[in-house]
Amino acid sequence: MPSYTLIAPAKINLYLEIIGDRPDGFHELAMILQSIDLADQIDVRAASTDSIRVYCEHPQVPTDKSNLAYRAAELMVAKFPDAFSKYGGVEITIKKRIPVAAGLAGGSANAAAVLVGIDLLWKLGLTQSELEELGATLGSDVPFCVAGGTVIATGRGEQLSPLPNLDTIYIVLGKYRSLEVSTAWAYKTYRQQFGNTYIRDTKDLAARANAVHSGAIVKAILKKDAVDIAQKLHNDLERVVLPAYPQVLQLREVFAKQAGVLGTMMSGSGPTVFALVESHQQAEAVKLRVRDEIPDEDLELFVTRTITHGIQLTVNS
Ligand code: ATP
Repeated sequence: MPSYTLIAPAKINLYLEIIGDRPDGFHELAMILQSIDLADQIDVRAASTDSIRVYCEHPQVPTDKSNLAYRAAELMVAKFPDAFSKYGGVEITIKKRIPVAAGLAGGSANAAAVLVGIDLLWKLGLTQSELEELGATLGSDVPFCVAGGTVIATGRGEQLSPLPNLDTIYIVLGKYRSLEVSTAWAYKTYRQQFGNTYIRDTKDLAARANAVHSGAIVKAILKKDAVDIAQKLHNDLERVVLPAYPQVLQLREVFAKQAGVLGTMMSGSGPTVFALVESHQQAEAVKLRVRDEIPDEDLELFVTRTITHGIQLTVNS
């Protein structure tokens, strides 16, 4: 049976600003998303049955219809019924390396990989923008995960403007295994606490979202200046997540005081905290020193780096 193996990278948010409420009930956001080389591996295989099957050994990842990868396959079946009857069912195997419910878009990356994998399996020849459009119906981060790189994301996070590729920046990531932050909870709590600061007028909302294009962090990215980028990191959701999760705040403080760390921030709705670091050697040293200061085995630490791509094909058989 034909099969494709895809690499599905995680993302971090270099910037996340909550601007206001959209008429569709979502938040209007201005974000800078960055792919990193911490990635899941997704195998997409033609099955001899006419069903969708998801396999994943990670205890926190469901294998039923609530898996975003499953929903991506279901979407392809609904959109391309002729291809489905011609080629039959699909088996999806997820090798999870991206921490789950971590603010790293792990589920979205898996869904993006399934869209790309089924496109190949069924020889549909979809363009990147067609894949992104399909992805947007599954979740706001899915379109970004298809192409990856460094991107300004506005609207719900699905309107993408690519930025030039960054030179490699090394990163140390920390995530407590047993700590999960619900994205829905983080946004709801932010609305309760800071909704009074939201921009209300639709025109002003769009103007504010556009302003990110000429903002300080985008200028730093255009200059490829890692020190400046690190100083301009921003995440509005820290205002609700850090007070509610003291461990996350402590981890952020421990990262911030390490030599070689250029800047540190929580990613997305957390609880992952990342630090941008001067060099690979420094990143390995920071990881060891943080481990010494927080000897809790529940804390997972990774050294990773920025990359310039999203979903990538590795094996084609
Ligand atoms: P985002 O940054 O987009 O908010 P996240 O990294 O915070 O994403 P995910 O890892 O995507 O969150 O997981 C969120 C929830 O979705 C988990 O509780 C998990 O049970 C469920 N889930 C469904 N499908 C997947 C998948 N393929 N991989 C990981 N989690 C999944």
